[in-house]
Amino acid sequence: MSKNPPPNYISTTNACKLCKPLGACLAFKGIEGTVPYLHGCQGCATYMRRYIISHYNEPIDIASSSLSEKHAVYGGGPNLKQGLTNVAEKYRPAMIGIATTCLTETIGDDVPMYLREFQRDTAGSEGLPKFIHVSTPSYSGTHMEGFHAAVKSVVEQLAESGPKTETINLMPGFVSSADYRLLQEILDDFGLDWTMLPDLSTTMDGPIFKEYVKVPAGGTPLERIESMGRSRLSIEFGHTLADSNSGARVLEKKFQVPCHRLGLPMGIEETDRFLALLAEISGRTVPEKYVHQRGRLVDAYVDGHKYIFGKRAIVYGEEDLVAGLTVFLAEIGIQPVLCASGGSSGKLARTIEKLTGDILLEQPQVFENMDFFDIGEMAGSLKPDLIIGHSKGYPLARKLAIPLVRVGFPIHDRVGGQRILHLGYQGAQQLFDTVTNAMIGAKQDASDVGYAYM
Ligand code: SF4
Repeated sequence: MSKNPPPNYISTTNACKLCKPLGACLAFKGIEGTVPYLHGCQGCATYMRRYIISHYNEPIDIASSSLSEKHAVYGGGPNLKQGLTNVAEKYRPAMIGIATTCLTETIGDDVPMYLREFQRDTAGSEGLPKFIHVSTPSYSGTHMEGFHAAVKSVVEQLAESGPKTETINLMPGFVSSADYRLLQEILDDFGLDWTMLPDLSTTMDGPIFKEYVKVPAGGTPLERIESMGRSRLSIEFGHTLADSNSGARVLEKKFQVPCHRLGLPMGIEETDRFLALLAEISGRTVPEKYVHQRGRLVDAYVDGHKYIFGKRAIVYGEEDLVAGLTVFLAEIGIQPVLCASGGSSGKLARTIEKLTGDILLEQPQVFENMDFFDIGEMAGSLKPDLIIGHSKGYPLARKLAIPLVRVGFPIHDRVGGQRILHLGYQGAQQLFDTVTNAMIGAKQDASDVGYAYM
């Protein structure tokens, strides 16, 4: 079932999405030697840093052109250029990724023109970084859309043509640092030469520094991005991702690099699809390691199903994560009753129906463009046993006195958000254990006698 609730008000109460340029800044953080730069006021950069730091517990610098009231009238061009000069001098980055904010989009600042002027004025200067610009008005999308838009802009502005290589491109979207590491391991295990864009595996989850490092090591190297137009093919995760916001589609149209679109490999079926594609591409069979992981996972599903079968769940977050989680829950015998996202691709309900139609007896209610007020309004009558999503669902879980299983971004009230595995058989195993233990814990908490053999 899918519908958009008729708006009987014009406000949003605690939106089920985050700011679009925040997603772009995170994508830029996954590129080697890159500093994210917001063309807007400092408050936006401060908000984004606060959100990102509380999830990753890693330092993150986001530069800004520090606009004030007068720039809203006269335009922010001079500040943008001065800010780029300062960042280039202080950080010596390989690239500055520039995202616009609500303010600069509303006043209509022409960033591409400012950048052309800046490059003309600085022509011949030594050591200048590359400048990549992405338009990210937050009132028109989510942080996930900003993330994909940044990836697309980077590919559009950097990828080059030339003799073909055997490399494959993987654009996984925004997943945890642990997920990026897992994907790299899987690609290596199939013996593939790969370029993953972006790569937040170390830039947002790195070792401790003795001294502050302005631009941490890691991220996708720029020369690998330049060669993406010469790759054999691309794999991109995202059933709800619009073609118009897809880096892999850019490579397909511009350089004839075929695009394979998959969902996030969450749960057994979606991971099977991913590994089957890698087997086909590499000409190898699925390594024994993954056959064993899959076998242990099925065994765990059998062992634990008595604790979770028939439980009812509310799932919320970014659309593709919601779709992936819904398939996973259906697969382990939990009935998703409400699937909600702040995104509005128009594809979420169809995707969920397609992926779970043969597993679920009853389709969940699916809503796009939701906020936590609406989710809370519906939750009472749906009688869920658990909630799955990021930290912003905590007040609702507390009110309903049911467990919140934390996944995705942002996770403010626990450590290790960047280390949660969601993908592959290993991710499904961790999620399964977390969900099942949450249900056992809730039963113990509600019991008069506490622990007993259950
Ligand atoms: S004003 Fe817009 S760009 Fe700035 S933090 Fe808020 S939503 Fe994001």
